[in-house]
Amino acid sequence: MYDFIIIGGGILGMSTAMQLLRTYPASRMLLLEKESAPARHQTGHNSGVIHAGVYYTPGSLKARFCLAGNAATKAFCEQHGIAYQVPGKLLVATNPLEMQRMQALWERTAANGIQREWLNAGQLREREPNIRGSGAILVPSSGIVNYAEVTAAMAGEFIRAGGEIRYGASVTALHESAQEIRVQSSAGDFACRFLITCAGLHSDRLVRMLGLQPGFSICPFRGEYFQLPAQHDRIVNHLIYPIPDPSMPFLGVHLTRMIDGSVTVGPNAVLALKREGYRKRDISLGDSWAMLTNPGILKVLKANLRPGLGEMKNSLFKRGYLQQVRKYCPSIQLGDLKPYPAGVRAQAVSDDGRLIDDFLFRHSRRSLHVCNAPSPAATSALPIGAHIVDQLSSQLLSLPSFAKPQSTRPAA
Ligand SMILES: Cc1cc2nc3c(=O)[nH]c(=O)nc-3n(C[C@H](O)[C@H](O)[C@H](O)COP(=O)(O)OP(=O)(O)OC[C@H]3O[C@@H](n4cnc5c(N)ncnc54)[C@H](O)[C@@H]3O)c2cc1C
Repeated sequence: MYDFIIIGGGILGMSTAMQLLRTYPASRMLLLEKESAPARHQTGHNSGVIHAGVYYTPGSLKARFCLAGNAATKAFCEQHGIAYQVPGKLLVATNPLEMQRMQALWERTAANGIQREWLNAGQLREREPNIRGSGAILVPSSGIVNYAEVTAAMAGEFIRAGGEIRYGASVTALHESAQEIRVQSSAGDFACRFLITCAGLHSDRLVRMLGLQPGFSICPFRGEYFQLPAQHDRIVNHLIYPIPDPSMPFLGVHLTRMIDGSVTVGPNAVLALKREGYRKRDISLGDSWAMLTNPGILKVLKANLRPGLGEMKNSLFKRGYLQQVRKYCPSIQLGDLKPYPAGVRAQAVSDDGRLIDDFLFRHSRRSLHVCNAPSPAATSALPIGAHIVDQLSSQLLSLPSFAKPQSTRPAA
């Protein structure tokens, strides 16, 4: 019998496992991951940005965790010798409507306690000769890192402290009783006193396995990228973002300097017909049927039909995609857009048809589930893990077996 089982070997599962074992060093812990290594899904297919917390509603979990996560991620990288850089980010306005939205973002950054600087068109051009805009907000604390490396370091710390990880263990069923939770997986059956799930694109399915009504479903959105050829590695000095449309949940196609020195363009946001479908041709009939018969998801798709079709068109025709980046970086040509692996975002949609914006957790007596963890959850992984450990300490008080942990394994 394990004290804790954690499902999901992305950055949230690993961060939670590592911090939980620091807090309960004498407990027996097991992390189950269906893939053969950590960070194979969202954590290993993202922009690698250490976000500063510009966009988020003041007071929301996203705003709080992102601000704390920006500093915590950099400190973790320092401690573990992981390469990261802090080039800063520019949010570039290209027309009067975007200038108005930029003003609103300027006020939001103040409310979120983020250091920033207002640049006029001339100041923008001085900093970024290849970028055109009427103005920009400079956010110096935005950084870049490889989140798969951060996750591997967390896994290493968890194992050194005595935690166990089973890869190739796909969880297929869960059963909660008064004494324990039983976990059925492709690598065998396990039991624990407490379960935590951090299952990303499958978060709703894990909640349903316990017989709970999650109140939301995951809608997958593919984020397609291109990479610029090596001669453009110095095309920008900062991370370059458009001013986002506040009615849309995603940030818009941006130019990102990656930690390996290359520059990517993207991601867009195209409805994916498979939860882990990284290529346009990846289709799962089961996933598509579940999505297209879900009233909440249908409502969202209907409300966003026009921008959704636009994203699809730009995904199929590279020229449309190119226009989005040429708005602020006119020197990029069609031939500069080289293939680069896509990512798939897990976006939770409520049963009544809303895109859920903030991080979302659910629990039962013996379980806690991370249900919605969209961007900037990689940046926020350390504070989210700490938050889960905090939540658990009060939840565990009601479970007699945790008042005096029964594990006999010595602390690492
Ligand atoms: C295109 C894109 C760009 C992004 N850019 C950024 C960015 O620049 N900065 C930022 O902070 N965030 C970014 N994000 C968001 C960030 O990557 C995610 O929010 C974060 O990685 C979520 O981590 P996770 O551990 O919850 O999910 P995941 O990394 O998806 O991990 C979930 C894990 O659970 C496992 N799992 C699922 N079901 C089961 C099962 N039944 N049994 C066993 N294992 C299971 C999966 O195999 C997977 O490994 C981006 C995301 C995408 C897709």
